[in-house]
Amino acid sequence: MRIKLKKYNKIIGVFVSVMMVLMIAGCAKEQNEDNGKIKIVTTTTMLADLARVIGGDYVQVNGLMGPGIDPHLYKASAGDVSVIQEADLVVYNGLDLESKLGEIFASLEKEEKVVVMIAEGLPDADLIMDEETGGYDPHIWFDVNLWKMASSNLLEGLIKVDPMNKEVYIKNHEAYVKELEVLNSYVGEEVALIPESARVIITAHDAFQYFGKAYGMEVLGLQGISTESEAGTGDVKSLADYIVEGQIKAIFVESSVPKRNIEALQEAVKAQGFDVEIGGELYSDSLGTTGTDAETYIGTMRSNVETIVNALK
Ligand SMILES: [Zn+2]
Repeated sequence: MRIKLKKYNKIIGVFVSVMMVLMIAGCAKEQNEDNGKIKIVTTTTMLADLARVIGGDYVQVNGLMGPGIDPHLYKASAGDVSVIQEADLVVYNGLDLESKLGEIFASLEKEEKVVVMIAEGLPDADLIMDEETGGYDPHIWFDVNLWKMASSNLLEGLIKVDPMNKEVYIKNHEAYVKELEVLNSYVGEEVALIPESARVIITAHDAFQYFGKAYGMEVLGLQGISTESEAGTGDVKSLADYIVEGQIKAIFVESSVPKRNIEALQEAVKAQGFDVEIGGELYSDSLGTTGTDAETYIGTMRSNVETIVNALK
């Protein structure tokens, strides 16, 4: 009887140990999934970068669109919808950049979730109205000063979600604003190296109007401000004429738009007996690939301005 009881105790002992191991493993797993960080979901790569900079160690950023993805055409997957549902803070560009995600953002407004539209409240005078669509041009990140202003919206949203760490976010934001001011001066100085008559950017779609307005360059795109419309043959013809007349040295392909339209433009110019080179690839609606210098917003802006200046100066 005594022996039997001992055996029984031993079995219970093993059972309890196994249970404890399982419970500890369970806790560890839970901690891993919910690491206490603020979950931010962003649409574009520019916004993911901004959220990482301002949130620092306190946030976990999940960017829906990777490098090279065109936000005008991006549709949400079922996975995206559940990631958005679980987020503490959702950040999107607005001004109809993410035109296929409109319904999702509209439904979020009904939920009690902090949602930030980065272009919210920017001064009318600084925004560019697009005649073709009758709406505002959404590519605000190409004016560094405008992007700096817009970054305050993300800061405010983050403070709303996590007021405990307010001071940290304000400090991160202030340091970044200084970096953006340095960048803004750098872009201006670089563009000044291009002869005035050659300050023309010709690309696949009209992403660079804010860049042109802020730094004094003329900007022409084969497609309008969205890539949703196809470039017509008339657009190719008139741009080709413009290049030949102006003796423009270079045109540019974009990282998030197929090259074929710009190559067709180059051919049309060649048919008129003039050679225009492809001056390189510009990052338009997405940052560069992770692991390169252009993986951050600042790196992308520097890379773009260097590509433009090298091709046109
Ligand atoms: Zn665009």
